[in-house]
Amino acid sequence: MSSAIVVGAGPAGLMAAEMLSAAGVQVDVYDAMPSAGRKFLLAGRGGLNLTHSEPFEAFAARYGSRRAEIEARLKSFDPQALREWVHGLGIATFVGTSGRVFPADMKAAPLLRAWLHRLREAGVRFHMRHRFTGWSADGALRFATQYGEVQARADGVVLALGGASWSRLGSDGAWVPLLQARGVAMAPLLPSNCGFDLRGGWSGYFASRFAGQPFKSVAIRFGPFHRQGEFVATATGVEGSLIYAASALLRDEIALQGIATLELDLLPACSMQHVLAQAAHPRGSRSLASHLKSRLGLAGIKLALLHELLPKPDLHEPAKLAAVTV
Ligand SMILES: Cc1cc2nc3c(=O)[nH]c(=O)nc-3n(C[C@H](O)[C@H](O)[C@H](O)COP(=O)(O)OP(=O)(O)OC[C@H]3O[C@@H](n4cnc5c(N)ncnc54)[C@H](O)[C@@H]3O)c2cc1C
Repeated sequence: MSSAIVVGAGPAGLMAAEMLSAAGVQVDVYDAMPSAGRKFLLAGRGGLNLTHSEPFEAFAARYGSRRAEIEARLKSFDPQALREWVHGLGIATFVGTSGRVFPADMKAAPLLRAWLHRLREAGVRFHMRHRFTGWSADGALRFATQYGEVQARADGVVLALGGASWSRLGSDGAWVPLLQARGVAMAPLLPSNCGFDLRGGWSGYFASRFAGQPFKSVAIRFGPFHRQGEFVATATGVEGSLIYAASALLRDEIALQGIATLELDLLPACSMQHVLAQAAHPRGSRSLASHLKSRLGLAGIKLALLHELLPKPDLHEPAKLAAVTV
């Protein structure tokens, strides 16, 4: 193969362009947007989580039902290889307290700039504002541009058109029917990192006081998934890194059952016996809130959650309190 077209200038397309170019292929990248990597740049606003430093086994488990398919590829380009690739662009990385890996300045723009520069230097050509609209009768790729239709062909084609979220950044999923029309079997596009609504929602009090606040150092159990970390309450449910890590499993369960129930451990460092003993400890004249705070460190959003979940009388019964805490 001496020439290739990559459609989509997000990170997937840019990486494909880099690999092809390194193999001596002349690469032309096309994208509908005026500039490359717009969603990638947005990801930079949240600090740009590049990968995770956890042991490989835990990392591979994140891919859920796709693990078998993806694991071999991960082994040939593992999280450490990704970090080295980023370092090769002149961007330092660090491991955050959660084990996640970020660029030192927590921004995507310098990385993207360096990457595009390196690609251009290697001879990759970019054609922005070219919207892929399908194939001509003789198999050329068709692009809509402000000057009318442009057609292009090459020895190889990579479609790296992204998913269907944040369409204003370019990935609108409009390519799905184009491939279906050519007889390509398509799996439905599904959200991969998502927050969830709570059945019945939070109480008005909880939502107004605690939306946006973190549940820190908690653990979630859902089927084979068991992990410690943190997430935040939203006005209607939950989101954040620990929820995202479980989101593919939760999503699949909701698709099947209409609902998913996860177990939340508010005190993952404590055994059930310890929580029970502390909750049952005589509290004298102290309020329940100050008792739970001093004996178990339960306060703020964690305490509020207990009030959300338990009828008032049960809060005073150590066994029921411990059962809903751990
Ligand atoms: C708010 C937010 C925060 C995120 N944070 C992180 C994070 O911290 N870490 C992380 O790893 N990921 C993060 N992501 C996810 C990450 O941005 C995506 O996984 C990544 O951009 C996907 O790359 P891609 O190349 O597959 O698709 P995209 O980045 O979506 O690129 C697809 C490209 O194809 C182009 N395109 C689509 N259709 C056509 C067409 N018909 N013709 C021509 N061009 C077309 C689009 O314009 C786009 O440039 C975040 C995403 C969001 C929205």
